[in-house]
Amino acid sequence: MLFKMKIKKMREKPRENCAIFGVTCNDLGYSVSKLLYQGLIALQHRGQESTGISLLKTGGKIYTYKRNGLVSKVLENPIISQFWGNVGIGHNRYATTGAVGYKSMDYIQPFHFKTNEIEFSMAFNGTIANFDEIKKNMDDMGRVFITDTDTEVIAQLIGSIALGTEDWPEVLKLTSRLLDGSYSLILMTDEGDIYAMRDPLGFKPLCIGELKSDKRNLYFVSSESCAIDAVGGILLRDVEPGEILHLSHQKDIHSELVIKSPKTALCQFEFIYFARPDSIIDGVSVAQARLRLGSLLAKNDPILKNPEIRENAVVVPVPDSGRSVAVGYAKEAKLPYVEGLMKNRYIWRTFIIPGQARRKAAVKEKLNPIKSVIQGRDIILLDDSIVRGTTTQQLVSLLKNRGEAKNIHLRISCPPIVSPCYMGIDFPTKEELIAGRFQKLYNENYIEEIRKKIGADTLLYQNVEDLVMAIGKEENQLCLACLTGNYPLKSVEKLAEMEQSIVQSRV
Ligand code: SF4
Repeated sequence: MLFKMKIKKMREKPRENCAIFGVTCNDLGYSVSKLLYQGLIALQHRGQESTGISLLKTGGKIYTYKRNGLVSKVLENPIISQFWGNVGIGHNRYATTGAVGYKSMDYIQPFHFKTNEIEFSMAFNGTIANFDEIKKNMDDMGRVFITDTDTEVIAQLIGSIALGTEDWPEVLKLTSRLLDGSYSLILMTDEGDIYAMRDPLGFKPLCIGELKSDKRNLYFVSSESCAIDAVGGILLRDVEPGEILHLSHQKDIHSELVIKSPKTALCQFEFIYFARPDSIIDGVSVAQARLRLGSLLAKNDPILKNPEIRENAVVVPVPDSGRSVAVGYAKEAKLPYVEGLMKNRYIWRTFIIPGQARRKAAVKEKLNPIKSVIQGRDIILLDDSIVRGTTTQQLVSLLKNRGEAKNIHLRISCPPIVSPCYMGIDFPTKEELIAGRFQKLYNENYIEEIRKKIGADTLLYQNVEDLVMAIGKEENQLCLACLTGNYPLKSVEKLAEMEQSIVQSRV
């Protein structure tokens, strides 16, 4: 009972998978608000529920503006022009908790922390596994919380530690030793410094860039390099796992590797789905990784040996994240690539829309088959992943019924997702994951049963070895927990075991 309550609570609190962006400029007369807007627009795919910015005005005052909605709506021109400052940070938010929706302003980031003694603003992307433990300790110390988020717990923790010292690197060093989780965060002080920090296993991406001209020098820190491109900067490097980095408009970049871990755990899903293809993460081009994923799928595909299917086949991507994979597949298979699905660009990405009902409705509105290019054909359909299976089922039926395709050969660039993610992504239970549920029900026949359920004529998943090869990292540099059930964080491993024992006790 105690365990049940603990797990339920964990699921009900907001968990973010978001975007963070920061800029500092050495020209005090220059405002970075437009650059924050441009950076956040480029990172919109990582969070679409709310957005916010904090800017440091002359005289050391931090101003924060945040609202629910897309960047273009929240940070309209009249708003942006009101905010003036040469240092700033911003955040796009996606609440992984789902259907409930946390609309309160208190849940939107950046989190502006202000007491009589200390002021800073912080933007955070991730999940803290030992959240409950830290919060309880701080509750006992008399701290009052206004939200139930990891972000506030970290901000309060930083605020408490900073009371004893003005030395920010030391404050963040101590903070990082107390946190167990997957996170990237940026913090802006009221002295105009930006600190960037990435967890010791490097689950979430974070990189820095610069833009130097005769007039001014700018430094950027961003969840993805595509935002640094968007503001005209050049990518300098990634923030290393376990590194605390200081970006100052008065000096250059200073960094300290606080915790050096023998292994890392960069989320493989960044390469499958989350990141934009024009981003480079930890030295790997996302687009190139996706091309390799497609090529390796084709190398392992038995239907390519069937001349009848080859004769009638076209390779079709599920837009947008299936595109690079489909190009890689078509090139390797030497088959034509066609755009057989029209996407309505004004509908949000289905996977990261909270709530199953909203997700389901969005698929129908989002995709329409282009009958003239797929009618009567064998469609080799490339998609990034199957999470719950319902959207894939709808898609297959759409192509067959409305598009009148002859056969659907479904090819998935991510191996079967069999285990929940406790690192901030919204697929919380094994029961909700089609591969997790079917693996338990049908053992080694589970892929065939998924195929039947989805209605595809054939189904091929990527295997884990090829996924690792396509990304171009070693296995011990990636988090593969949702594919293997092996969790890189000890506290998360314990939670997974607890959940498993509860599920088994219900059977
Ligand atoms: S469990 Fe899966 S989605 Fe979660 S961090 Fe690991 S690889 Fe990413």
